[in-house]
Amino acid sequence: MTRPKNKRKADTLKDWLRDFSEQIPTSHPVRLSRHALPYYGDCELREGKGGKFFRIRIAKHLDKDAAFLVLAHEYAHALAHYLEPDPDDHGAAFGLAYAATWAIVCGEADPE
Ligand SMILES: [Zn+2]
Repeated sequence: MTRPKNKRKADTLKDWLRDFSEQIPTSHPVRLSRHALPYYGDCELREGKGGKFFRIRIAKHLDKDAAFLVLAHEYAHALAHYLEPDPDDHGAAFGLAYAATWAIVCGEADPE
């Protein structure tokens, strides 16, 4: 795979979130944070002063690669709300959203 010369490579979680948000935007903004969690991560549609947003939390104990995999998974949960107002956790809408998310990754990742 080749990368357009003018496009810089996503490296940090925030880079990836920016690329996901630009190329496959969710119905509400995503707020990303790292937390001490007893599991890998979560995504929840919440309502704040500025309106609705998706809160994605990723466990602090994960290394960079694992945290990225969790981000792709949790972003797909947020994106699934475009297809269904109340999607099943890992149902068809999630599957389509997950595929769309990975299409971004595969288009940007440098093959080994
Ligand atoms: Zn999930």
